[in-house]
Parts: sequence; C-alpha cells; structure tokens
Amino acid sequence: MRLARIAHPEGVAFAAIVGEADNPDGPLFAAEIAEHPFGKPEFTSRKWPLADVRLLAPILPSKIICIGKNYADHAREMGSEPPAQPVIFMKPSTAVIGPNGAIRRPVDSERVDYEGELAVVIGQPCRDVAAADADKVILGYTIANDVTARDQQKADGQWTRAKGYDTFCPLGPWIETSLDPTDLDIRTELDGEVKQDSNTAFLLHTIPELIEYVSKVMTLLPGDVILTGTPAGVGPMVAGQKVAVTVSGIGTLENTVQDRA
Ligand code: MG
Repeated sequence: MRLARIAHPEGVAFAAIVGEADNPDGPLFAAEIAEHPFGKPEFTSRKWPLADVRLLAPILPSKIICIGKNYADHAREMGSEPPAQPVIFMKPSTAVIGPNGAIRRPVDSERVDYEGELAVVIGQPCRDVAAADADKVILGYTIANDVTARDQQKADGQWTRAKGYDTFCPLGPWIETSLDPTDLDIRTELDGEVKQDSNTAFLLHTIPELIEYVSKVMTLLPGDVILTGTPAGVGPMVAGQKVAVTVSGIGTLENTVQDRA
C-alpha cells in the first residue's frame, strides 16, 4: 500500500494512493484514512483524484535518525574508511518538508549538498529490537534527501547545525508498505543530470542491523524515520535548481532549491 499525507479541498488527512480495480491503467485517487495509518488503517468513504490533492510529507516524525557513511564509496569520497559500527546522528523534526517543497539554503553556508537516501518509517513503539524482528516494527519505506551544509559540517566537527536547518529533510512522496528494501536502485538527479546512481544492496549496515543498533539507544515511536545513508556522488545545489531522488519500487521525491531570505 502507498500511504500518503494529503492536503485535500477540506483539510489534511492520511490517505492511500489507489487505482480503480476495473481500470488498472487509469487515474489514481487518494482514499482518505481515518485517524492514522498505523496498525490496520480504516478508510472513510471519501476519496479525491490524485490531481486534486497536494502531497505533503508522508509522516511527521517525532525524531529523524540518520546513518552516516553507510555506503563504502561515499565514506571514501568523504576521506574516511567505512566505519565498523553505524555512525548515527539526528535531524530535528522541524527540518521536514514534503514533495515539491523548497529547500532553503541558509545565508551563512557556502555549500549546501543533496544526499539521496532510502528512509525507513517505524510502525510501532519499540526498544531493543533484535535484527531478526526488525520487519515487525517497520511501517514502510519512503525517500529522503539528507540535505547538508557541507562547509559547516567540516567546520563544526559535529553535525547538528549542518544537518538541522529548516527544510533540510525532504520526505516523500509516500510510504510504500510492501517492499523488499535489499535491492533497490537509488538515483539522484540535479536539473535532470544523474549525480548519484547506486543500489541499496551496497548498504554497509543493513536495515535490520540499523534498527537493532538504534533501538538499543532510544525508544522508537510510530512515524519515526531512519535515513539509511547516501551513496557516492554528493555535491552542491544552488538556488533555482531542482533535485530529484528516485528509489525503485517507491517513486521520485522532487524538490526545488531557494536561498533563504
Ligand atoms: Mg546522509
């Protein structure tokens, strides 16, 4: 199922993106979910053509946990060896924006980079999850852009400022709940030019390993998001550009870039 959050003509809701059973190649609709998408979602009777709603960030997480250097080629382009243990850091919930939202470059950074990533969305409260049980706590998968003020990341020695600006965590376009995440193509394009082109098979620490590692540290809540790391090819974005991250089996997360006033 494709779970989305939408702005519809009368408000905001969770929805499933569905086709018509008797017209599989026809238009898509957003079918409204009552309350929240966790557990077994209940549907209201309302639905709208997808063209008549606006997709929002598919979830508003209580926290966003990010994994650094989780592809060997990216660790090397950053001048370090692949780490033996996962490197974890966080972004504030206020960094989240949705599909087609504007990434705003802060005035005090000279270099703001894209980092296309597969993101895991947690489906239930959990702690100390064994890797073998990780599937049970996953709601689904979406796409993220771990936007980074690269100059500030290098200058500060830790990453809170560089990774934490408002708009630095685009998420979307929706959460795919039925997906094997172990062999997905991941590609980032800047103004249509391919900049990152890899596959989740190259993740150094797998998603079950990451959930075990992170849930030893902190309780994970429904809707929390884990960004699984970016492959090689990171680079800067400037105002006026469009950045698109595509993960096979999910879709494309596209955002614009602006300078913050
Ligand atoms: Mg990253």
